[in-house]
Amino acid sequence: MKLGALEAGGTKMVCAIGNENGEIMEQVSIPTETPEITVPKLLSFFKGKEIEALGIGCFGPIDVNRDSETYGYITTTPKLAWQNFDMVGTFRKELGVPVGFDTDVNGSALGEYTWGIAKGLHSCIYITIGTGVGVGVIVDGKLLHGMLHPEGGHILLSKLPNDTYEGFCPFHKNCMEGLAAGPAIEGRWGKKAIDLADRPEVWEMEAEYIAQALVDYTVLVSPQRIILGGGVMHQTQLLKLVREKFKTLLNGYIKTKELEDLDSYIVVQSLDDKQGIMGALKLGLLELERQS
Ligand code: ADP
Ligand code: ZN
Repeated sequence: MKLGALEAGGTKMVCAIGNENGEIMEQVSIPTETPEITVPKLLSFFKGKEIEALGIGCFGPIDVNRDSETYGYITTTPKLAWQNFDMVGTFRKELGVPVGFDTDVNGSALGEYTWGIAKGLHSCIYITIGTGVGVGVIVDGKLLHGMLHPEGGHILLSKLPNDTYEGFCPFHKNCMEGLAAGPAIEGRWGKKAIDLADRPEVWEMEAEYIAQALVDYTVLVSPQRIILGGGVMHQTQLLKLVREKFKTLLNGYIKTKELEDLDSYIVVQSLDDKQGIMGALKLGLLELERQS
């Protein structure tokens, strides 16, 4: 079976053709410009490939409420050209196949849950720490939506007393994204995150903020595993620090077998940064099954 997958990001669009086993046969990356410029390029990639469904993992906020008139739209995104763009409607009309649609991070969570390190569990959280911070959530084997969809990058954190950086989120300065995404590291320390690898104080502070967020996700959602991805997590020294600080902050409050082994509770993505595009394949497959 041939399925299409689109991982729609703020800087690039990854398009792939794959199958129901998560195998990817063909993949391209197209820069994200305006819908007028970019969408025809995406369509020309997918057209004529005989896909049976398309799955889209999309930057947000997006409308994932099937009862809404604007289901399938990108809604209040700061990428103004894409505000109120009808993703699902456009691709369904042009390609004539079922179109699955969810957030990029829910897509990544689904990829890890179906084929990766969360396989066999019934709940997990996927967090990307990159240009922004996003959180995808699976509970009872289903992607969590609620009223809209989780926006877990914007949970408010306790600012560290020795941190003079004010945070870059225009809505709330001391949220996770504002204090811990890649641009926050750059804004605080005056250099690109990748060029700060040898500065321990950078990663101590970063790990502290990540750990605060993970404690909040743990007590609220009770996931069986927490998976970290995104560019910032390429700093391999972070993971150990995050686990240590998480343990200190949680302070023994919850005792489960999962939390006894933090090395397998807090992990990095396991699909070689293909979790998003593989998850999008699965979104397409689920929509096909739903409609047939
Ligand atoms: P996006 O979030 O745009 O999809 P990424 O997940 O690659 O893309 O995140 C990009 C961010 O991650 C940038 O802010 C960049 O500084 C940071 N980043 C990328 N690679 C590294 C690295 N090796 N070490 C630390 N930070 C990195
Ligand atoms: Zn925020």
